[in-house]
Amino acid sequence: MGDPHPTPPTLRATALGRTFGRGPGKVSALGPLDLEVARGEFTCVVGPSGCGKSTLLRIAAGLLRPSTGRLEIRAETDRPAAMIFQDYGIYDWKSVLANVRFGLDVQRVPRKDADARARDWLSRLGLADFADAYPAALSGGMRQRVAIARALAVEPEILLMDEPFAALDAQLRTILQDELLELTQTTRTTTLFITHSLEEAIVLGDRVLVMSARPGRILAERRPPFARPRSGDIRDAAEFAALKRELWDLLRGEVRTEAVPA
Ligand code: ADP
Ligand code: MG
Repeated sequence: MGDPHPTPPTLRATALGRTFGRGPGKVSALGPLDLEVARGEFTCVVGPSGCGKSTLLRIAAGLLRPSTGRLEIRAETDRPAAMIFQDYGIYDWKSVLANVRFGLDVQRVPRKDADARARDWLSRLGLADFADAYPAALSGGMRQRVAIARALAVEPEILLMDEPFAALDAQLRTILQDELLELTQTTRTTTLFITHSLEEAIVLGDRVLVMSARPGRILAERRPPFARPRSGDIRDAAEFAALKRELWDLLRGEVRTEAVPA
């Protein structure tokens, strides 16, 4: 691990803040938050519900403007950032193939190339036989694989994932974590991954950032002590349990803060 020639960060947030509404109903959702994500790094962010995690990701994806501070993405190519939403965000009226091709269509990749790339990603995610199906016919886990295939098909420079496995049952979640681990270790895509699962963050992340209660700031950073390539087997390691406990100690106070009405 450890790059001897550190490259400038791909993503940098400086005193980033966001409020919603105005007057007495004004909500401070995020920040001021500082964050740097290095090229090729898989960064996980955990934090209590409502602390501004989705707000952070939406700003990074360019879907939302910050109220204060800035978020810069230093792109090396003209490849886009790709976002996977908590609710998958796939289109029920498009076939699976058309869903996966969507980002390529937006990039005006010629149809033949786009189809080939979309089919390639479908088969990598075990969905080759479902290209012509519609999302309504798929299970939750398959729908989530479609969303992942769609995001990866554009070969994004940065992958932004907002609790992508939150709606899945525990077994499926574990399987998809392992798949994503393998996939991202092959592609080395710079990834910002939001989750409320400490286990998920430790399995996947080069580092885990802990956010405070709303308005979310970065409270702490931990680096899971597992070399890459790693597999899901690290879940059984003693260091895994120790780190999970440590992260929970950091997070617990914040979760309680959020549970008390302001
Ligand atoms: P998280 O993803 O960590 O659960 P969010 O980023 O979704 O948190 O929300 C942070 C806070 O901002 C919450 O209090 C939420 O209600 C509020 N919020 C988010 N989006 C909006 C919006 N569009 N309008 C008003 N309030 C919002
Ligand atoms: Mg959220």
